[in-house]
Amino acid sequence: MTDDGLDEGGPNEGGPNEGGLDEGALRDGIVRTMRAMAERGLNRGTSGNVSARLGEGLLVTPSGVPADALTPETIVQLDAAGAAAAGSLKPSSEWRMHAGLYARRPDVNAVVHCHSRHATILACAGRPIPPLHYMVGVSGRSSVAVAPYATFGTEALAQGVAATLDGGWACLMANHGQIAVGPSLERALAVAEEIEEQAAVYWGALAIGGPRLLDDAQMAEVAGMFRSYGQGR
Ligand SMILES: [Zn+2]
Repeated sequence: MTDDGLDEGGPNEGGPNEGGLDEGALRDGIVRTMRAMAERGLNRGTSGNVSARLGEGLLVTPSGVPADALTPETIVQLDAAGAAAAGSLKPSSEWRMHAGLYARRPDVNAVVHCHSRHATILACAGRPIPPLHYMVGVSGRSSVAVAPYATFGTEALAQGVAATLDGGWACLMANHGQIAVGPSLERALAVAEEIEEQAAVYWGALAIGGPRLLDDAQMAEVAGMFRSYGQGR
């Protein structure tokens, strides 16, 4: 047991979608993830959205439904072209961002987007999270970059986020919030929660004169350790 919560498989683990979970289990998982975000203070009201890869398409939260009103049946199935299944609710306005990541990233099976407060503060200030704590490494990088601003729901935002993630597991979104991805809903949620924690730590460190940063060698060592957690399974 390590103290960083990553012994259940690091975000580099990859592998099959949710360990082969079926559609019903993924719908349940998306609802649980949205409720967990609300309960843990990562998200409020109808902001934020969650998806999981399903075959050639995806399952994504509906537009404008708060977490406590979500049920597995309200989750929207989209095909590879982004068309919703007949009778579905309207998908999240950010569905292009989710679909674009599944198309570009075979290692990603789940996407979590939220407006968690401290990540959003930094995103609005245009400040990446630097390597001030080794857990910044859960992002798959030594720092957490800020994707360029584009209007919510647009293809421009989807492309900017995918380019900024660049193989990593999380980034901030300028003047908007944060996004985390992973091989499973559990991992993507854990990364989003850690990014919010690191954003809060950075925000606090800035208030008392700024952090003392870890160096490239120290972060590279951590990255290697995070990878090995996943390979043990
Ligand atoms: Zn948003």
